[in-house]
Amino acid sequence: MSLVVQKYGGSSVADAEGIKRVAKRIVEAKQNGHQVVVVVSAMGDTTDELIDLAGQVSPMPSGREFDMLLTAGERISMALLAMAIKNLGHEAQSFTGSQAGVITDSVHNKARIIDVTPGRIKTSVDEGNIAIVAGFQGVSQDKKDITTLGRGGSDTTAVALAAALDADVCEIYTDVDGVFTADPRVVKKARKIDWISFEDMLELASSGSKVLLHRCVEYARRYNIPIHVRSSFSGLQGTWVSNEPRGDRKVEQAIISGVAHDTSEAKITVVGVPDKPGEAAAIFRAIADAQVNIDMVVQNVSAATTGLTDISFTLPKTEGRKAVDALEKTRAQVGYESLRYDDQIAKISLVGAGMKTNPGVTATFFEALSDAGVNIELISTSEIRISVVTRAEDVNESVRAVHTAFGLDSDSDEAVVYGGTGR
Ligand code: ASP
Ligand code: MG
Repeated sequence: MSLVVQKYGGSSVADAEGIKRVAKRIVEAKQNGHQVVVVVSAMGDTTDELIDLAGQVSPMPSGREFDMLLTAGERISMALLAMAIKNLGHEAQSFTGSQAGVITDSVHNKARIIDVTPGRIKTSVDEGNIAIVAGFQGVSQDKKDITTLGRGGSDTTAVALAAALDADVCEIYTDVDGVFTADPRVVKKARKIDWISFEDMLELASSGSKVLLHRCVEYARRYNIPIHVRSSFSGLQGTWVSNEPRGDRKVEQAIISGVAHDTSEAKITVVGVPDKPGEAAAIFRAIADAQVNIDMVVQNVSAATTGLTDISFTLPKTEGRKAVDALEKTRAQVGYESLRYDDQIAKISLVGAGMKTNPGVTATFFEALSDAGVNIELISTSEIRISVVTRAEDVNESVRAVHTAFGLDSDSDEAVVYGGTGR
């Protein structure tokens, strides 16, 4: 008998109607002869509401209590879902992450899964139940405290359980029909991708695509768990993310998988840096010591007359303050002239393993932006990705222009967004 793990996101279980709709779909999978393990997120925007609430009682809640609070969201949806399934005449049992054997380190708010011991889940499904597991949470190995895996962590719970249970597939149900060639909220003519490799999906995720988190794809690749991303609203075939194309239809990988965008980053420019050995090292040592992760880095050619150069890099906006503070402390040592901080930027990336062997991809990308009148501020490339930084206000137009230039537009406006507030 095959075992499937299904994960339902917050927008799929946003209200009682949603929970009943999802319950029906789960029962169908069971009736089709599968053992079913379900991972569920908190209803709608519950997690955000709990975070707001915590902020109202304390400006800096302790990590332990914060996690205890947030995990309540998933406990509500798991219990309601189990009730809804029982109401359809099927047996279901709900489990917290801890009961399901999700063991983590003790870093509250962004714990990492160390081990999964799903004995109770296995017993439950072997006895004929549908097992419902609260996503996004676990228990720390040393202190036995409740932890959370970071925002959007339920996907990772699902893949981790799928790996531990040796499931045939991990189905991730969301509010769009799969992975699209661009964010369907921005590009109406975005096309659903039938199959994408782990490699390209990882690159899309790290370039800002929100449909799957990087960590979840990373986990799936490590354990070779095929992911099927699909909508809980439409029931259509979604996108398979795996090592090899699935099914009888051998899909050839496209040259370009898609266009991703990211408006969560800021840019820091260190102006007037003396062009001599050790300067860049000192700057980035300071940034690293402040525990800030950077993304793109560009150093200008120094002006011959002054011997000074500018160094720019991007980083998450949320780390902006920390990075600027750290750099200000090194000012005397580095001897730069000034710092510029700019959070009105966007990053647009083109991803596809096929670009390695296809000349002209970079030229077409830049031409599309230039035809749209968009100025490029920074550029970085990898073997399967080209990224540029532009003004934030140009982001939607840039994504659409690049999408069209690479022939990715579909003939119909097929990209439907079924739910979610995008919050
Ligand atoms: N409820 C959590 C969040 O909103 C986890 C998840 O949805 O995956 O981040
Ligand atoms: Mg959520």
